[in-house]
Amino acid sequence: MTSDPKILFVDYTAELGGGQLCLADIAVHLRHRCEVFLFESGPFQDLLEKEGVVVRVPKRDTASLSVRKKSNWFSYLSSIPVLLSLVASLARVASRFDLLYANTAKAVMVAVPVALVLRKPLLVHLHDIIGPDHFNRLNSWLFVGGANLAKAIVANSDASAAAYRKAGGKNRNLEVIPNGFAVERFAADVTAQSRTLRTSLGGEDKPLVGLFGRIAAWKGQKVLIEALKQLPDVNGVIVGEALFTAADQQYKRELFALAEKLGVSTQLQFEGFQTDVLPYLKAVDVVVHCSTSPEPFGRVIVEAQLAGKAVIATKGGGPSEIIDDRVTGILVSPSNSAELAGAIQELLENRKWAEQLAANGRQAAIRRFGLESVLKEWTAFINRNAPTVTKPRPVTEDGIEKREAHPAAVGRREV
Ligand code: UDP
Repeated sequence: MTSDPKILFVDYTAELGGGQLCLADIAVHLRHRCEVFLFESGPFQDLLEKEGVVVRVPKRDTASLSVRKKSNWFSYLSSIPVLLSLVASLARVASRFDLLYANTAKAVMVAVPVALVLRKPLLVHLHDIIGPDHFNRLNSWLFVGGANLAKAIVANSDASAAAYRKAGGKNRNLEVIPNGFAVERFAADVTAQSRTLRTSLGGEDKPLVGLFGRIAAWKGQKVLIEALKQLPDVNGVIVGEALFTAADQQYKRELFALAEKLGVSTQLQFEGFQTDVLPYLKAVDVVVHCSTSPEPFGRVIVEAQLAGKAVIATKGGGPSEIIDDRVTGILVSPSNSAELAGAIQELLENRKWAEQLAANGRQAAIRRFGLESVLKEWTAFINRNAPTVTKPRPVTEDGIEKREAHPAAVGRREV
């Protein structure tokens, strides 16, 4: 008799970035046979638990883990005690599972030694473009070396897969599966909320453009501020928060200062992190995406398309795979505020064309990124690479087959 292999997902952060929202979809779908190990507690844990997924968090505070994508040897050395403690905690949990699944690069570093010692197959979900923009050589080497040892890798775009190969990735079992989206969620009627928002964001007198996503230098919020300077009759809203590093916090302060310096403070509002971005997406006229280096996937672009908005995004990476330029959206050069301002102007002056782009984008997004079909691809990827689990039929004393209840029950677990 075979049974479904039990999966332990591993992620380093409990903040809600795109990689975590993507994993949430997979883990919720497979919650009857998975748990999630996080290095820390936070909103991602709350989201998973609300959806019935068991989450394990180490007892020891690992917030002091100072390893980042650009960390040097010194950071690694000083983080050794925390890293060892994480490896030990993960090993304790992982022994009960058939398969480890590392979500993001930092999780790979901790999952690889555990998978090797326990001789468990490891799958890796790549959400990053491995390259000098985001990883220094040490981190790139460590990640690629770890990922090469995995049973298989799934990348979120052709661009992420190509960057892994370029960085020396040799794993022959590499597939590309995009993020998936619950299409109906973006068709919900939020008219009342978005009208109220629109009023609070300056009303209908001026057009409104929105930039969605966490605040970080490479997400290019500065480029929007510079573009607004060239469009005095346009308002902007930035939805998202500085989630991960002190450098992100510093960048956020710089954004306020830049808006002040360029005299666009009255045109621009910062709304912070929103658990539901839909009313904001609906409230704006145009959605812009301004990443200054190639975006690995770009969930916010698909979400804007599903919400029926015309999107302008920067060329390269995932956006170039999602958007057919001037058919399902507009692609502009990264870090070029004049080109961005020109594209915004063009859409605002040609509303009919903007509507057509939005409608085309929505149709393409529904066709390519519907959650149900993407979940099938993910599940097939996992099952293909999972070991076959045979187990003896549990029987009672009278010899009648006994059904086993799944041990997982919702609740916070410290390990
Ligand atoms: N997001 C959110 N609230 C916010 C800003 C962003 O829930 O205030 C979500 C957004 O809807 C998207 C994700 O965060 O699903 C960002 O994913 P993306 O791939 O665009 O960027 P990443 O964070 O992975 O770099």
